[in-house]
Amino acid sequence: MNAKEIMATDQEYYLPVFARYPLVLSHGRGAYVYDVEGRKYLDFLAGIAVNIIGHAHPKLVAAIAEQAGKIIHCSNLYYTAQQATLAESLVKLSGLGKVFLGNSGAEANEGAVKLARKYGKAAAAGKFEIVAAEHSFHGRTLATLTATGQPKYQKGYEPLPPGFIHVPFNDLEALKAAVSEKTCAVMLEPIQGEGGVNLPDAGYLAAVRELCDTYGALLIFDEIQTGVGRTGKMFAYEHFGFKPDIVTLAKGLGGGVPIGAFIASDRVAAAFGPGDHGSTFGGNPLACAAANAVLAIMAEEELLENARQVGAYLLEKLSELQARYPGHIAGVRGLGLIVGMKLTRPGKDLVVSCMERGLIINCTAGDVLRFVPPLNIQQRHVDEMIGILSEVLDEC
Ligand SMILES: *Cc1c(COP(=O)(O)O)cnc(C)c1O
Repeated sequence: MNAKEIMATDQEYYLPVFARYPLVLSHGRGAYVYDVEGRKYLDFLAGIAVNIIGHAHPKLVAAIAEQAGKIIHCSNLYYTAQQATLAESLVKLSGLGKVFLGNSGAEANEGAVKLARKYGKAAAAGKFEIVAAEHSFHGRTLATLTATGQPKYQKGYEPLPPGFIHVPFNDLEALKAAVSEKTCAVMLEPIQGEGGVNLPDAGYLAAVRELCDTYGALLIFDEIQTGVGRTGKMFAYEHFGFKPDIVTLAKGLGGGVPIGAFIASDRVAAAFGPGDHGSTFGGNPLACAAANAVLAIMAEEELLENARQVGAYLLEKLSELQARYPGHIAGVRGLGLIVGMKLTRPGKDLVVSCMERGLIINCTAGDVLRFVPPLNIQQRHVDEMIGILSEVLDEC
């Protein structure tokens, strides 16, 4: 099948929930992907913050192949070395107590919400409310789309599960007014990803932590996008000097192989016992072998340091662009390799123009170009990206 035939077949048989670009991808290597006609694209989206060690990293490919040749799946009725090893690594890296593994971000958050509800119920009758932020994104299951503070994801699915309240991000007074003895958890992305790369104000998250402690509410950090080194630390919360009670991970964890996780403190994790939660595929040896390889590669190749250095360079280069094109660019912000550039108008056309010139980027929240490249990109990739983006901005 050629590109046209593939697109036509997909459109005929696949549920039309994705507004796709007319691009059929075939393979990738490092920071580049190739379409079925052999055209090369620099990938500054990385499958939406998923391919954190780039495409087809030989050590990840080998780890997956080796594991597939041994055992792909065996059910959670049994132990595997791959799962035990990953659980140990995630606990040690996070400073928390116990891990549960699922297959996606939404599932990780769904599990975190269930754990918080169970923990809250044991603490006090009626302690089930979850306070989340406007413009957040937590997933597409019924509970997680209800936690998501964007009505467009909820419309048509009512009645929604009760007990979710939304307040503006970075508004401590609004949060104080919403949190009460009925709150079992406050759920936040430390940096909002889909909502437009919104960073927390200085002191905001620490004040949220304090407020949670005052009311005996748990703090859940959704680090599905910011975790696994994206911000230049393994977890974004390491920048702020305290820990949440539960953190969720997914996107980058398997380097592209589906896997999600929630990690809770021992005190909170004790609310779950045998039979309280589960998953058929979650934590299978194939996905765990991939995640173990990703963590090993990150350490070997010092990718946290690279994300900090190249992230700072990216921010600097985008700020220069802002100075050159003040009519098009309203602001630039980010931490490590999650960076947003706010435009003065909708960004969809820019994304298409970049794609036509061999650059894959993404626009979120309507007018924010989002840069979430692999964590092993180099300065030369940033220079190449800036070159293409400047050409496109010149034509605007
Ligand atoms: C992508 C994302 C999710 C949902 O993950 P899925 O794997 O698509 O279910 C949840 N929270 C955040 C912060 C995300 O970026």
